[in-house]
Amino acid sequence: MKVTGVHVLSFDLGGLERPYRNSIITTSRKVVTFVEVETDEGEVGRAFASEREAPAIEGPIRDRILGEDPLNAARLWHAMFTGWRKPVVKGDAISAIGAVDNALWDLRGKILGLPAYRLLGGFRDTVPAYAAGGYYEDGKGVAGVVAEMERFVAAGYQAVKMKVGGAALREDVERVRAVREAIGPDIDLMVDANNAWDAAEAVRFGRAVERYDIAWFEEPCWADDLVGAAEVCRALDMPVASGENEFTRWGCRDLVEQRAADIVQADPHTAGGLTEWVRIAAIASAHHVPVAPHGNHWLGAHAAAAVDNGMVVESYARLQAWQDDFFAPWQLEGGELVLPSAPGLGIEVDLGAMGKASRSG
Ligand SMILES: [Mg+2]
Repeated sequence: MKVTGVHVLSFDLGGLERPYRNSIITTSRKVVTFVEVETDEGEVGRAFASEREAPAIEGPIRDRILGEDPLNAARLWHAMFTGWRKPVVKGDAISAIGAVDNALWDLRGKILGLPAYRLLGGFRDTVPAYAAGGYYEDGKGVAGVVAEMERFVAAGYQAVKMKVGGAALREDVERVRAVREAIGPDIDLMVDANNAWDAAEAVRFGRAVERYDIAWFEEPCWADDLVGAAEVCRALDMPVASGENEFTRWGCRDLVEQRAADIVQADPHTAGGLTEWVRIAAIASAHHVPVAPHGNHWLGAHAAAAVDNGMVVESYARLQAWQDDFFAPWQLEGGELVLPSAPGLGIEVDLGAMGKASRSG
């Protein structure tokens, strides 16, 4: 079997009724982008991509894998990574490689008749998941974020995450206090600053919320500030989680070796795909550090279920209700996501409905 085509499919499903933001980015449109890898035997692999990755995917990356046997995971990753004038270890080129690598894992699963997580290692069949939300929205207020977190818990999640760093420190502390009071002591609560602070400010915030039993403090410092993040790790008792803005095994090696994260959150798409992600997990494992993949559960669950140090999976399942119109939901049992038995990534999506909505949206 040979790879005969690689292309990007993007659906703009219109504007969000209520744009939402974290400490740095506002999301205002519903856009879903896939990459598809085709073969001479008609089998197609599909995974998530982003529009800005399209020029790299449909250009140099495609050229590196056309005609190759899609089963050769390490060989194809190496070809995609070293095919540039110089290997580029950070940025969108790596994310574009990651998207194609994941579509290849979907394809391998379909060829071999097995779910991707079993081909990648197969450590377990269910993984603990947390609901990510608690974004800032105009008019949402403390009551709004409390109601959202209560909704996550009612849906069966045993762990929830909220944004911080996008309001005045005192206001953020009050949001965290109100959520902890509402969800009670038995639900894990994480806070995510999305690189809002320098080390001193992050430590100040961490000390102000540590009484609310925070399961982890995510991305307290700028993504390049490993020294600052290491300071925060040392200064606070609560674990610091980081890595969604890091790339490849080499970037994550530095994160771990500098003790800049107690939990590594490499994203199985943007850090270089599932092939690279399990290598990152192995580096973390060698330092007795757990991994908690950033990003959607369709990929994250395969990543975390494949390795022995997978901690918990991020899920936006209850954050964006519009996704239910196009994607089949996954089962959540006792706070754990049940991995699909379907071959490949098991992303069941109604592309016809998405195409129609995108033309009218
Ligand atoms: Mg985050």
